[in-house]
Amino acid sequence: EGLMRLDKFLAEMGKGSRSEVKEMARRGRIQINGQTVKAADTKVDPERDQICLDGLFVSYARTEYFMLNKPQGTVSATEDGRYPTVVSLIGEALRKDLFPVGRLDVDTEGLLLITNDGPLAHELLSPKNHVDKTYLAYIEGELPADAGRRLEEGICLEDGVKTRPAKLSVLSCEKGECLRGRPADGALKTALPVALTIHEGKFHQVKRMFEAMSCRVVYLKRLSMGPLTLDTSLLPGQYRPLTAEEQSALK
Ligand code: URA
Repeated sequence: EGLMRLDKFLAEMGKGSRSEVKEMARRGRIQINGQTVKAADTKVDPERDQICLDGLFVSYARTEYFMLNKPQGTVSATEDGRYPTVVSLIGEALRKDLFPVGRLDVDTEGLLLITNDGPLAHELLSPKNHVDKTYLAYIEGELPADAGRRLEEGICLEDGVKTRPAKLSVLSCEKGECLRGRPADGALKTALPVALTIHEGKFHQVKRMFEAMSCRVVYLKRLSMGPLTLDTSLLPGQYRPLTAEEQSALK
């Protein structure tokens, strides 16, 4: 228990691919507790063994957590042929096994948790936990007068699926409510800023909820997820590690 292969450990710590690490071992570049080890399948205990590469201690990061303000034009995946992935934006990651918790569309911005904590991701994404997510949306088209009530009651999407109760607030720029997430794009001047809180995560959910009311989302940004709120000092594309408080709030 707690043991893993040397090549897996060093690859996860970002020191190279499994085959590159095998080659490093073969060349005698790796020491475990002061002994040179050439077999990449040697079992190590990352919590207790001292593992060095080229004489430098490789510190063990068990889990990492980053808050990213996802920019438009990136995909919420670990690999993609067309767009840069959100994971590739995390420059200071120690580990190579990070993934985004949930998905935002390519053209959606905002809060994304990037981690390698599988059990936590599972908890946050599990439908039974109803983790709330709040979005800032700029919408075009006439918002029906009873939109708030309809969203509260659950709205029928075009595929017949009914959404869980959601909470709508129409934001007032005069009161400064939408300044926090306001996009620079002047073309959105005519769009209406709203905040919508949902408790599930269906494909294109927010866009489809407004489409069901004959409106169109022209800008979408996630502001919060459960206890995590997007740090307003993060510009799109910027990230920071979660604070200890944020990490404990998630558990
Ligand atoms: N709802 C959407 O329509 N898109 C997102 O990216 C997130 C929620």
